[in-house]
Amino acid sequence: MSNLDRDAVPSLCGGRGFVVAEPVRELLSPRRVTLGESTEVRRLLPNLGRRMVGAWCFVDHYGPDDIADEPGMQVPPHPHMGLQTVSWLHEGEVLHRDSTGSVQTVRPRELGLMTSGRAISHSEESPRSHARFLHGAQLWVALPDSDRHTPPRFEHHADLPQITSPGLTATLLLGTLDGSTSPGTTYTPILGADLALSRGADVRLPLERDFEYAVLAMSGETHVDGVPVLPGSMLYLGCGRTDLSLRAESDAGLMLLGGEPFEEELVMWWNFVGRTNEEIARARADWMNGDRFGAVRGYDGDRLSAPELPAVPLKARGRVR
Ligand code: MN
Repeated sequence: MSNLDRDAVPSLCGGRGFVVAEPVRELLSPRRVTLGESTEVRRLLPNLGRRMVGAWCFVDHYGPDDIADEPGMQVPPHPHMGLQTVSWLHEGEVLHRDSTGSVQTVRPRELGLMTSGRAISHSEESPRSHARFLHGAQLWVALPDSDRHTPPRFEHHADLPQITSPGLTATLLLGTLDGSTSPGTTYTPILGADLALSRGADVRLPLERDFEYAVLAMSGETHVDGVPVLPGSMLYLGCGRTDLSLRAESDAGLMLLGGEPFEEELVMWWNFVGRTNEEIARARADWMNGDRFGAVRGYDGDRLSAPELPAVPLKARGRVR
């Protein structure tokens, strides 16, 4: 998905100054953002005062939306730089096309993982014939400096490893949990897991003490470390935990996001992650001039234009408080 916000505000993130070294329970409320003409999403990252969780730098939760008589998701070709995108569905399907020639339908609990490297463009749309409900999350992972200029690539993993215990099925998107590892390519120590809980579940998950974590609630009634977390909200958990307790009052869906705190300072603007204002401005100009980002074939419609750059130059910075 694209950041379709026309008032694209720069986000300065990364660096140790954001990270909470101790276990905390910080409830993050979503900001409602309208994408295109109809779709409304709940944006959890970047959030006021909390920009990243490990290398996770962008989290949108959308649906469940009834799109039986509607076109559904229609995100025209747009560019990315310096990040990976993760497409994750609980209901419905998304047809992905990109400038490396990938054409792939992503279905519930399949991983669509796009590594932009230095430049890629893609479109995402509900197929013409689609399921009634669309429910999912769009997430971005910042690439470290050592890998952010790699060639672009797209991966689709339909058969992801799962961990099961009474009341819990965990599916690995990225990284390792309880001895199971996702086949998705990672560039920093990171974790992404989907947690399906059944009503009455009361479980403990093993965590890495050096990682910071957050839990995104997608459906159902749950308590995360004792805190009720409503669908569309996220609980930031800080670092220093060796396990996490989860309880479900109904069948429920969560995403556990974590990783080693991201040390590098970043500038994030529109669909780009960079290190300097000049890099961001060059990426914008290259997209508008039709350079670098390639072409998406087969999308029925025009590509997206970039919003105007803010008048004040951006500077990377590590601390907000
Ligand atoms: Mn996108």
